[in-house]
Amino acid sequence: MLTISEIAGFAGAGLAGAAYVPQISHLIRARCSAGISRLAFGVWLLASVLVTARAIVIHAGVFIALGGIQTVATALIMLYATRYKNTPCPVHLPDHAGGQAAIVVVSRDASARELLFRELSKRYGADYQIVVCDRPAELAARIRDLRRAGQPVALVMSGVGGQDRDGIEVLSTIRPIDPTAVRVAAVGWGDWQSVRSVFDAATRGTVDHWVTCPVQTPAEEFHRSVTEFLREWSSQRDGGFEPVQVFGRRWSARSQELRDLLSRHRVPAGFYDATSGRGRRMLRELGLQSPELPVVVLRFGPKRSTLVNPSNRQIADAFGVMTPISPGEVFDLAVVGAGPAGLAAAVYASSEGLRTVVVEHEAVGGQAGTSSMIRNYPGFSQGISGATLAQEMWQQAWSFGTRFLYMRRAESLSGTDGHYRLRLSDGGVLTARTVVIATGATYRRLGIPRLEDLQGRGVFYGAAASEAPAMRGRNVFVAGGGNSAGQAALHLAKWAGHVTILVRAKSLADSMSDYLIRQIGSAPNVDVCYRVQVADGTGTGHLESLVLQDTLSGARRSVPADALFVLIGSQPRTQWLGDSVARDRRGFIRTGLDLPADAGRRWPSPRPPLPLETSMPGVFAAGDVRRGSVNRVAAAVGEGAATIPLVHRYLHTTATRTQAAA
Ligand SMILES: Cc1cc2nc3c(=O)[nH]c(=O)nc-3n(C[C@H](O)[C@H](O)[C@H](O)COP(=O)(O)OP(=O)(O)OC[C@H]3O[C@@H](n4cnc5c(N)ncnc54)[C@H](O)[C@@H]3O)c2cc1C
Repeated sequence: MLTISEIAGFAGAGLAGAAYVPQISHLIRARCSAGISRLAFGVWLLASVLVTARAIVIHAGVFIALGGIQTVATALIMLYATRYKNTPCPVHLPDHAGGQAAIVVVSRDASARELLFRELSKRYGADYQIVVCDRPAELAARIRDLRRAGQPVALVMSGVGGQDRDGIEVLSTIRPIDPTAVRVAAVGWGDWQSVRSVFDAATRGTVDHWVTCPVQTPAEEFHRSVTEFLREWSSQRDGGFEPVQVFGRRWSARSQELRDLLSRHRVPAGFYDATSGRGRRMLRELGLQSPELPVVVLRFGPKRSTLVNPSNRQIADAFGVMTPISPGEVFDLAVVGAGPAGLAAAVYASSEGLRTVVVEHEAVGGQAGTSSMIRNYPGFSQGISGATLAQEMWQQAWSFGTRFLYMRRAESLSGTDGHYRLRLSDGGVLTARTVVIATGATYRRLGIPRLEDLQGRGVFYGAAASEAPAMRGRNVFVAGGGNSAGQAALHLAKWAGHVTILVRAKSLADSMSDYLIRQIGSAPNVDVCYRVQVADGTGTGHLESLVLQDTLSGARRSVPADALFVLIGSQPRTQWLGDSVARDRRGFIRTGLDLPADAGRRWPSPRPPLPLETSMPGVFAAGDVRRGSVNRVAAAVGEGAATIPLVHRYLHTTATRTQAAA
């Protein structure tokens, strides 16, 4: 005979099972994500085992007591079952779950959670595991579990407002656990108060982005933002599609240069240490025993190319995207430099029918391309990475018909009214009727021989966004007090154990934007050291320590350092121009109204110079290279675009003059 408690136990188990039938396999495979704690799940399993045991073992006193325990456990399971009965299974388990990235939704609000889960599952369920968490306190453990299981976390989307008053704090705890997960605040439409606090959090850097919760189906606005966040996350990741593979020594300056160049061009590339077992094996498979390094393998197109210790130009040529310039070809416009100013000039020129060529000797995007996140470029309320902006502008110019010559430097400019000639570093000559000089500026060097020797091996000029993930847990220094130094420090702080900003002045107020100063102030692993400069450093294979000098007392001290990023001001890239165009004392190009102030200029035309026109008629300057420019991406783009109506005007005037002379 069964006791009453046993009958209740069996009935409870049956009911609980029935309530869960559609989800039971998911529940077993993804216990945590279903919101059922380890303990409850364990009890449920134990109870089930006991029920089964009870059914097959001869009736005895001990099983009557166990039947009672099982009844209580089943009641608990039923509570959970009732709670989750009508929610979709919170876990999408793909066929090949191993390594699949996760999108984690965290909210106390069941309807918001369900809405976000449903939308995200519909669009991204095939490629990402969508995980929901209803208790913010468990988020950290959940993320750690996923990472332990080899599943990177792409996005953490937290509700903010309503029942999720602490949503921003929840997001602010993620960085130490997962430095690359993109932290997104999801706000209800019309909750302006929460939106304000999210804006402030984005300024402080405690959240990366925000999104309005979906309000209609299909929720295209919502998905547009989410896709953009996922793209940002995936662009930081190694592995996967590798159309290019590079084999080199880990700490060599050349390896670092190639990594930087490829990442600035957004070319997915795999990097292999040629001295590691795997690197040597892969090289042997390519038929290379001990080749000169680096080796670059292009794995796309009809045939694979293996380049041994190639120059940048050889790599660019092997890519096959350049159309050769025929001898005697004359362009309407030659643009020197493919930073924001040069690219904007190219977009407008080619879209308006001018035959345009751009010469670039490093990476498309110029300085802007090295910025991890540009927050003040109009039109991108969530900010945009410099490399993405550059890539979009480059594709736009290319699609309008601009021709590009990569990895070539313009070495001189000559010519008279009519035709200008640019002599290039590959020995070629470009001929054009007008020229836009957009060669920007470059960072000042420290000029300390020991540290110059360590460039690329712990010492980096510029923000070197591609190096940031390698700084995980390291002790990093940033020299400089400007906006670019501030941005670099905050970007590095995502990975580094500690970042110290070294500033010669006694405060940052005169040199850095207030929003950055506030972000630095609230970053737990960033410190600022005032009235200090880098005096020396040591390191054999790579940087090991820095010698810092107090600018007031002259006292020196040595500190251990894994890396130094130098952002101490810039100088214009105009040496190549010689005295062909008028420049100021520091080398910046004078243009338009600024020209008459230059006593040394020779303006050969009876007409006054056009705005942005240099001392050579028909040659214009735009962006950071120009005296008086304001060193902003938007300003450079504006100046680049503004040169094109002037180019038209110049070409029209010269054509009219030629006709009149004829
Ligand atoms: C790390 C960092 C972060 C920044 N963040 C921001 C920001 O958040 N917001 C903002 O508004 N601004 C920011 N800036 C400033 C902004 O990037 C610059 O003002 C802008 O890039 C200037 O554009 P440009 O086209 O004039 O020059 P550049 O961007 O310097 O581009 C010049 C290009 O010309 C090429 N070149 C030079 N000489 C030659 C030659 N002889 N032949 C062929 N090519 C040549 C160079 O390789 C380069 O690609 C940042 C700068 C840096 C470095």
